[in-house]
Amino acid sequence: MKFLLFLNLLIVHLSYNNAFSAVINTRHQLLGVNFDISVVHSDTSYAWQCVNKAVNKVKMIESIISSWDQTSQTSAINKNAGLDWTRVNSELFSLINRSKNVCELTQGAFDITIGPILNCWKFDGSMTTIPDSDKIDQSMLKIGSENILLDHENQCVLLSEKGMKIGFGAIGKGFIAEEIKQFLMKLEITSGLIGAGGDLVFWGEHPLTNSWNISVANPNGGTPICSLNLKNTAVVTSGDYEKFVTIDNVKYSHIIDPRTGHPASGLKSVTIICPNAELADALATAVFVLGESKGIQLINSLSGIEAIIINLNDSILTSSGIEPNYF
Ligand code: ADP
Ligand code: MG
Repeated sequence: MKFLLFLNLLIVHLSYNNAFSAVINTRHQLLGVNFDISVVHSDTSYAWQCVNKAVNKVKMIESIISSWDQTSQTSAINKNAGLDWTRVNSELFSLINRSKNVCELTQGAFDITIGPILNCWKFDGSMTTIPDSDKIDQSMLKIGSENILLDHENQCVLLSEKGMKIGFGAIGKGFIAEEIKQFLMKLEITSGLIGAGGDLVFWGEHPLTNSWNISVANPNGGTPICSLNLKNTAVVTSGDYEKFVTIDNVKYSHIIDPRTGHPASGLKSVTIICPNAELADALATAVFVLGESKGIQLINSLSGIEAIIINLNDSILTSSGIEPNYF
């Protein structure tokens, strides 16, 4: 979706590193998006088994972390907001802990407690006027990751204020892509790619080209902006060009600034290149909120992480350690 991949045959048999390897490219409807799993292995039937196990694992993780699924552990936390502690499994507990850390790192630009504000802004076509400022002000009282309390010893979570609501819309796809990569690596899949709605993570050698050639989409459509030759990393884009609403000729993006309660404006897209897909996902959202100057400053302060930003004038800005091949 957001990237063009140069892996276009369903199954390719090829000579690779003197071994006869097969690439299996599969697409699934998971997490509400196209979810791509590509694996490289000499034994095709083993590769298919791994893909099937990976699909089940995605479903399993989704059923734990989804804030839509009323039976999930995340929903249990939200229902207990201001009332009681909820015991959760270790993966969810550490995801919440890391999300709190990213909130701090980004000075509140990324915040999983954004839920109440998301109830004010609708991006499904149902919103025809911008929300009432009173409603936004009321919701703002429920925002703040500092009000997520963690009991590390008992793995319990408490949202300290009634009406608080957490959600993983801006980090969940990256988290799951990263989990599935680790899962497949444990199954001895030494190279592959996961694409969760365009959020990519890949490892090992590309079977044809050694490194992976990833194109960064043009937020205005048409020819991609640039391409990158990369290995063992994740590439994640957040933008205002796929999910937005236009009211009185003003475009409002689905990424909200948790500090104001209003949609972030000023950029068209942010692409983050980072070895960890979860962090890439969270940072793409955060930099979109922070804007070009503070965003680039943040990325330049983090080693091994790069950004490509496209602003409203279609200027392309990059962090200090990356040189894309422009088309
Ligand atoms: P996409 O889902 O299109 O890849 P993002 O990763 O940027 O885009 O996630 C955007 C989603 O995250 C929104 O639809 C909303 O559910 C949630 N969200 C919006 N703004 C924020 C924010 N500042 N911090 C955390 N989550 C956010
Ligand atoms: Mg994100």
